[in-house]
Amino acid sequence: MSAECIFCKIVKGEIPSFKIYEDDATFAFLDIRPVNRGHTLVVPKNHSRNIFDSAVEDWLAVTKTVRKLAPVIEKAVKADGININMNNREHAGQVVDHLHVHIIPRFKGDGFKLWSQSPYKEGEAVSVQKEIKAHLPQ
Ligand code: 5GP
Ligand code: ZN
Repeated sequence: MSAECIFCKIVKGEIPSFKIYEDDATFAFLDIRPVNRGHTLVVPKNHSRNIFDSAVEDWLAVTKTVRKLAPVIEKAVKADGININMNNREHAGQVVDHLHVHIIPRFKGDGFKLWSQSPYKEGEAVSVQKEIKAHLPQ
């Protein structure tokens, strides 16, 4: 637990939230500024900043809760699909430094675009593949 962390405070009930679900290790509540109705955040009860410093057990518990809630939320708000999103560190869009996964209902024609993509240049994919594989633990 971090005394200043707003999501720790939400988990402890010190800040109100619209709780959707909780179990021993995780807590899920409505995002206060939803992309679409039903936008839900899933957090571990143990404080960690993001995926990098989280305990594997906490991460697994979060993913299990996301797996449980995604179909429930999609059905409940009659969505046409769901995005699962997670921002890690400031330059990846993380604002609240307590690990959280977004469950975002999507509706036909809602107009939200994901990131733009473009193909690798000749030979680039091979060098990126090598860079990443060289960093894999043996
Ligand atoms: P991030 O950009 O860090 O991935 O997303 C943080 C999310 O937390 C944002 O979508 C924001 O609307 C939500 N949020 C920030 N403060 C609060 C709060 O006090 N209560 C709730 N329910 N959501 C919050
Ligand atoms: Zn926290």
